[in-house]
Amino acid sequence: MRRRVEAIPGRPLPYGILGGCTDVIDVTDEHELLGVEWMALGCSPVRDTDWCPDESPGEESPGSVPGQKEFFAPTHEVADPITVYAGVRCSTIGWSYQEAIEHVRASLELGEQQGVESAFWRYTLAPRAVDLTPDDGPVSLAQGVAALEGCLAESYGGVGTFHVPTGAAALLSCCNIAYADGNRLSTLAGNCVIVGSGYSGELWTGRLPGAARHGLVVHLRARRRPARPHRSHPGPRRLAATSRAQGGLLDIDEETGQAALRAAGLYDEFLTLVRPGEDAKRVVDRHGTILLDKPADRRSARPEVDRGELRRLLIDSLAPETIRWGRRLDRVRRRPEGGYDLTFEAGPAARADVVVGADGAWSKVRALLTPAAPRYSGTCFVEVALASGDGIRGASVASIGSGTLMAVAPGKGTIVHRYADGQVRGYVALNKSEGWMRSIDFGDPSAGLRQVAGEFDGWSPLLTAFVTESDAEPLLRPVYALPVGIS
Ligand SMILES: Cc1cc2nc3c(=O)[nH]c(=O)nc-3n(C[C@H](O)[C@H](O)[C@H](O)COP(=O)(O)OP(=O)(O)OC[C@H]3O[C@@H](n4cnc5c(N)ncnc54)[C@H](O)[C@@H]3O)c2cc1C
Repeated sequence: MRRRVEAIPGRPLPYGILGGCTDVIDVTDEHELLGVEWMALGCSPVRDTDWCPDESPGEESPGSVPGQKEFFAPTHEVADPITVYAGVRCSTIGWSYQEAIEHVRASLELGEQQGVESAFWRYTLAPRAVDLTPDDGPVSLAQGVAALEGCLAESYGGVGTFHVPTGAAALLSCCNIAYADGNRLSTLAGNCVIVGSGYSGELWTGRLPGAARHGLVVHLRARRRPARPHRSHPGPRRLAATSRAQGGLLDIDEETGQAALRAAGLYDEFLTLVRPGEDAKRVVDRHGTILLDKPADRRSARPEVDRGELRRLLIDSLAPETIRWGRRLDRVRRRPEGGYDLTFEAGPAARADVVVGADGAWSKVRALLTPAAPRYSGTCFVEVALASGDGIRGASVASIGSGTLMAVAPGKGTIVHRYADGQVRGYVALNKSEGWMRSIDFGDPSAGLRQVAGEFDGWSPLLTAFVTESDAEPLLRPVYALPVGIS
């Protein structure tokens, strides 16, 4: 049995630079995601400002006051966000599924710990590190700590974090260098001590036999977002009414969708979901020149509603337990004596007298009626979204008008919608083979979206910004359709 395990939620790790003495800030807004930030050691002496005494005879002004000081405060620095990929393949033999998940979670946490520590030391701190070892060779542990504390005090004036090799840890307490302060280890001067924690790189390998290297960093803050599942593989089955975003707006036709809602007795509630004013339509060419500007019509025959809200309305109208979440239909078979046998990917089989297939383009039920299968229409949509902001973002959002903006040209286009609350969501569409679309590596969403935007060369930046600046996870929506004429 192979099952997919959701990514572990981000939380402070128990050791090392991301634990103990470090602030770990879990952010939800990715704009705040700055990776690791710290106060860099200035090592710059206080000095006089350029003093240029006025020497002109008889002049009353003495010029600038001598002795004015300029302080070089420690600078605030940031390192790129660090992304760690870790995975575990495991056999569940001898373990329950829950035990296997626990094991995977623990392994992922450990992998994340080691990966972050290693990357941060190797690529960010080690290249700038200063070796404080005296010329005449290694010093004792106490002298080393004293040298580091002196450096911290002189250059930074604050406390920091010492990273001490595991092999030297035992000496810390027997030499009275560190003591336990609550749950953390601290020096007499109040600097936090971290033992071990994944050093790597030449800086930490000691050039002399027996030499132990110590490192210090000033106060660190790590900002990170909760871990997310890697999207290049199919996601887990969606198991609840609210467990996924539903995409953008839907215009509901009078003869089809509205008729169905009336028949279900939900029409009045549906009207409360209609977004008045958002059915304005603006069509522009690739330069952004307006070709059509149709204002909103409150009496539109095709009012716009949010997919998620419509879905909630439909689900809430059912008795609880009507929908069995997580019961994905695997196969449906007609019984010779009448009725149907249904088997599911999980859970017990079922028998039914009547089966209504409403399982979308890839319906398993439809196969009972016709061998026809959907075909790729040749057009693929990619979801985009844009939060308003300064510069090009704000200008792009403003260019939409109050409803939907469509910019279409042969083989490509952008369709974005501005919601009353200021949100912008929509799609960029390309007529490309599905293989080409799927070959785009959206593992790095910005790079993937830049590749998509490359297909819009020469288009107004106001339009391409919907793609290049998109904040949405770039989900692919290849459009499949049944052959025309099937009944
Ligand atoms: C980008 C885009 C924009 C669109 N805009 C509009 C619009 O503005 N107005 C409009 O009217 N239409 C629009 N459409 C079309 C509209 O979304 C579809 O026509 C409509 O969703 C089809 O409904 P459905 O119930 O047949 O299938 P779906 O909406 O695909 O629903 C099928 C359901 O069955 C479930 N399912 C699938 N397989 C199984 C299984 N084996 N076992 C159990 N459950 C299963 C799925 O999880 C899903 O919940 C748009 C489509 C796209 C792609």
